[in-house]
Amino acid sequence: MSDHTYRIAGATGDWEIVMGLEVHAQVVSNAKLFSGAATAFGAAPNSQVSLVDAAMPGMLPVINQHVVEQAVKTGLGLNAQINNWSRFDRKNYFYPDLPQGYQISQFQYPIVGEGEIECERDDGSRFTVGIERLHLEQDAGKSIHDLDPSHTYVDLNRSGVALMEIVSRPHIRTPEEASAYVSKLRTILRYLGTCGGDMEKGQLRADVNVSVCRPGQYEKFRETGDFSHLGTRCEIKNVNSLRFIRQAIEFEAKRQIDIIEEGGTIDQETRLFDANTGVTRSMRSKEEAHDYRYFPDPDLLPLELQQDWVDQIRVNLPELPDQKRERFMSDMGLSEYDAGVLAADKDRADYFETVAEGRDPKLASNWVNNELFGRLNKEGLGITDSPVSADQLGKLVALIKDGTISGKIAKDVFEILWSEGGDPAQIVEDRGLKQVTDTGAIEAVIDELIANNPDQAAQVKDKPKTMGWFVGQVMKAMQGKANPQAVNEILKKKLLD
Ligand code: ADP
Ligand code: MG
Repeated sequence: MSDHTYRIAGATGDWEIVMGLEVHAQVVSNAKLFSGAATAFGAAPNSQVSLVDAAMPGMLPVINQHVVEQAVKTGLGLNAQINNWSRFDRKNYFYPDLPQGYQISQFQYPIVGEGEIECERDDGSRFTVGIERLHLEQDAGKSIHDLDPSHTYVDLNRSGVALMEIVSRPHIRTPEEASAYVSKLRTILRYLGTCGGDMEKGQLRADVNVSVCRPGQYEKFRETGDFSHLGTRCEIKNVNSLRFIRQAIEFEAKRQIDIIEEGGTIDQETRLFDANTGVTRSMRSKEEAHDYRYFPDPDLLPLELQQDWVDQIRVNLPELPDQKRERFMSDMGLSEYDAGVLAADKDRADYFETVAEGRDPKLASNWVNNELFGRLNKEGLGITDSPVSADQLGKLVALIKDGTISGKIAKDVFEILWSEGGDPAQIVEDRGLKQVTDTGAIEAVIDELIANNPDQAAQVKDKPKTMGWFVGQVMKAMQGKANPQAVNEILKKKLLD
């Protein structure tokens, strides 16, 4: 039993959870998977619909090469097998927002096969999740039920938008790991520029498959690959936030345990998570499951990739989060924790790299991770909304490093940058904030203090800790601008020697 084993105590003994996720990621592309219609978010309803997306008779789909490239890029970023031969199939079902009466997807022959992702738990420990496949498919339109009491409206703007469905192996064992997996996947997609990852805009949605089993069963499954060691799973559809993923799993696991412990069995079914009540409820059972009558789409040729083209994409792959974290540690000397926090978000990493460029990376990391992130969190702002730019913070860090200002004064300058903006060096100049390293000036202040407080001064020899009082007084007298190191050295000489 590892430190991270997650056990739920039931009335009849302990239980564990097993999860596999199917993540739908909207591909970053100006045009749809099989048409030239636009994909911008928030456009007026039905303003981005080509005749293909509306499934007008006689219209033919034409594959968008850019989307294929994005899928290959993603596959490579997930350390996955790229299948140079793949095929599009029709998945047939009726729904008012699906004008074709089928979705074009990849069933038997996906463009990307097996891969894996390394993820981090909150405590920094790592776990690996196998990827089963990634395939391309079309999104459907959207039915709008709340515009009119007796009619349903349909917006086809999303119809035909390219999605990547990324299917994980059932290697996820705790609610925390499930959200960490989605979070890491999202980070990789954002680094690659293949999915925006905004869950609120529906760019990333997760179907969460949950089953429960007795301790030891999962290990047997991993040894043999035999799914019969695992419990029957339920699939919670379209969960659209990391918090909801954790909540839905916690609820669903308990629900399944209760049923089994009362002598019942789990029906394999599709369920929906209601974020308002925190419960999952049945959407359809296995018996009601669709027979999609998959068959190869006769309008599309199989997709054949040239190895050269795939190799070219591989060569041009950007640096990925794990590589960046390693580089922050090895080249910049950051701790694993700091490097991980910075690399976990592309915008944060970019910001940090600008601050650190040509400067002390550790000092830069401290300022970004502590002062800046702390302040942004307090105000509920993201890094891209930061009132202090990376360039400004970098200049501030340089002023601390070269001794122009103390770390304490730097915090004041930071506040000024935050609320008023400006150039750090100019602010320091205009407001006379330069650190005093002139030992003569510091000595003068110290001599006066000792003269005025002879008892205190005498006490320091017996209780060296009380020297702190003098440090505070010097700083106060010099408005925090005295070089702390110089102050300490002079005080020691005068009071202890
Ligand atoms: P389907 O095609 O019916 O959706 P898949 O075999 O593709 O079924 O599995 C879908 C997802 O369910 C995958 O992410 C997989 O890891 C996960 N899964 C399969 N079996 C289990 C199980 N017993 N418990 C939890 N998750 C499972
Ligand atoms: Mg599936």
